[in-house]
Amino acid sequence: MGSVSLHNVNKSFGAVDVIHDVSLDIEDGEFCVLIGPSGSGKSTLLRIIAGLEEVSSGAVSIDDKDVTDLPPKQRDIAMVFQTYALYPQMTVAENMGFALKLAGMPKAQIAEKVRDTARMLELEPLLQRLPKALSGGQRQRVSMGRAIVRDPSVFLFDEPLSNLDAKLRVQVRGEIADLHRRLGTTSVYVTHDQVEAMTLGQKIVVLRDGRIEQAGPPLTLYEDPVNTFVASFLGTPS
Ligand code: ADP
Ligand code: MG
Repeated sequence: MGSVSLHNVNKSFGAVDVIHDVSLDIEDGEFCVLIGPSGSGKSTLLRIIAGLEEVSSGAVSIDDKDVTDLPPKQRDIAMVFQTYALYPQMTVAENMGFALKLAGMPKAQIAEKVRDTARMLELEPLLQRLPKALSGGQRQRVSMGRAIVRDPSVFLFDEPLSNLDAKLRVQVRGEIADLHRRLGTTSVYVTHDQVEAMTLGQKIVVLRDGRIEQAGPPLTLYEDPVNTFVASFLGTPS
């Protein structure tokens, strides 16, 4: 369960309109990529889905339930950030279990969930380390582990690979694809990278200045872009 719908969403910061009448349906289990240049509103849309930004008008639903006025905690989502945002004084295991602890889950159950997730991400040998003793790729995997352990209906990713070097980017990208194949969790993934979008996306949404230019399966956007803007992001090289 994890469909996401945006209905005529608008967002302004002060007098500046940054999201214009965005409507979008993401199906349960779908991997949806939001792509567009810097400043096109990708992070703002993701934060609106997460409940970290309020809409100026319009509505957001998750699992067919209107969550427009609900805070992040009451939305069944987990976010993976660009900067891993790990707690520096906590071990990997503590970082991964922290949200469950806050939610009041018994210790033994937390330990089991953390162990299972760590096994899946091959993080088991690192569980007692502090974040500073991890490589960038390992930190990003812990950050994913922290989201997975909560077993949300929807994963939200904001440029999760952008702090990794080229080789790690390919590796972690593969791990994210693998994860989606295994868990089938609805995912909304923000990037400005064409290769990431084409390899991960089942649906790609192209944003420009806070508007949707085109949304559809990768092949459709690649072969049949509606305009030169979409083509420049995803189309066949001319
Ligand atoms: P992207 O993630 O595609 O780079 P953003 O969603 O971060 O774009 O930003 C979209 C627009 O909204 C930009 O013009 C940005 O400057 C503006 N913006 C984002 N957050 C805020 C904020 N908290 N206050 C004012 N303007 C903001
Ligand atoms: Mg952004």
